Amino acid sequence: MLFCKESLFTPGPTPVPDRVKQAMNQPMVAHRSEVFSNNLKQVATRLMPVFGSKEPVIVIAGSGTSALESAVCNVVHEGDHVVVVVTGVFGERFASICESYGVNVHRLDIEWGTACRPEQLETFLKGLEHPVKAVFATYCETSTSVLNPVKDLGAVVKRLTDALYIVDGVSCIGGVPVDMEEYQIDILVSGSQKALMLPPGLAFVAVNKRAKEEIKNGPKKRFYLDLNRYIQSYDEGTTTPFTPPVSMVYGANEVCQMIEEEGFGNVIKRHEILRDMTRAGVKALGLPLLVENDADASPTVTAVKPADGKANVIKKYLQEHFSMAIASGQKQLKGKIFRIGHMGYSTPFDVLNVLTALEMVVHELEGRDTFGIAVKKAEEVWKAHV
Ligand SMILES: *Cc1c(COP(=O)(O)O)cnc(C)c1O
Repeated sequence: MLFCKESLFTPGPTPVPDRVKQAMNQPMVAHRSEVFSNNLKQVATRLMPVFGSKEPVIVIAGSGTSALESAVCNVVHEGDHVVVVVTGVFGERFASICESYGVNVHRLDIEWGTACRPEQLETFLKGLEHPVKAVFATYCETSTSVLNPVKDLGAVVKRLTDALYIVDGVSCIGGVPVDMEEYQIDILVSGSQKALMLPPGLAFVAVNKRAKEEIKNGPKKRFYLDLNRYIQSYDEGTTTPFTPPVSMVYGANEVCQMIEEEGFGNVIKRHEILRDMTRAGVKALGLPLLVENDADASPTVTAVKPADGKANVIKKYLQEHFSMAIASGQKQLKGKIFRIGHMGYSTPFDVLNVLTALEMVVHELEGRDTFGIAVKKAEEVWKAHV
């Protein structure tokens, strides 16, 4: 029996709207053509409010990690000292990239499942003996579903150091507010397959004026990810230094169109509703949330930590019985949590679907009467917002 349609609740890749697929399904054009340049120009400028950037957003063919790497290799020199705030797997990734470039990394390790408090960063920075070239932070730490207070952290960085402030926004940009000037972010990176509703394959880098200068005087060892090449191509007529994924750029333009039609403020609001619905439903089922503090919870993904360690059983059950893909835990959280993505092309009804599935799996595993209890709480949250 066809009980369920395939549905994707992973925190990347995320569902791609039909109209974005349509937009990508166009005849191929030369990437040195006017029609492509116009498309790229639109994407680079229409993404500016989404990144809170005053400069056109740089588009690179690559996964999100290429954007992270570009934020390291363009401004940090071998032997420099940097601070990396590590709240989970993706903070660790920034640290690993820096280490592979021969950079001295000072790790501020925060317990997984909690956000970095500004006071923690303040104490850490005050205890350093070396001036630091850059401070790296993760906006949404996808592995734990924590949203770090990047604005408050930025204020600490700029008050205590003259370091560049570099933020990984891969799993939330497009679903959360950000203003690079106000948050004092110098480089903000993201990827296509999370809140931006595209397939994997595009990386985005937003830089401010100061970062642009630093990039100009950056290390010699860089080629494909040399951001000067991308900036220069824009300056010379909005194209790219290498062959871009033409179809993906068309898709990105359609995503901008959708965000503008909904209104970016509404997009942000919708993600908050999705988070609050998910958390209310999961709590009603008696399943513990990894991120206990509501203020630390990301609007784009929710991690659940079943007390009996049944995270993988639940994940497998959802896939096998309901064709629903959710994500498991990574590294130290492997087998301990499961994660529900609710970003990008995600609606309250999608959350109700996944909560219904959870009601049924908990009923199956524990024999409790769970029917309707998560959905009820989530509907109440939704109703309160509309
Ligand atoms: C997904 C993700 C990345 C890495 O993106 P890839 O596209 O897999 O290279 C980096 N940072 C965060 C926060 C992410 O969620």
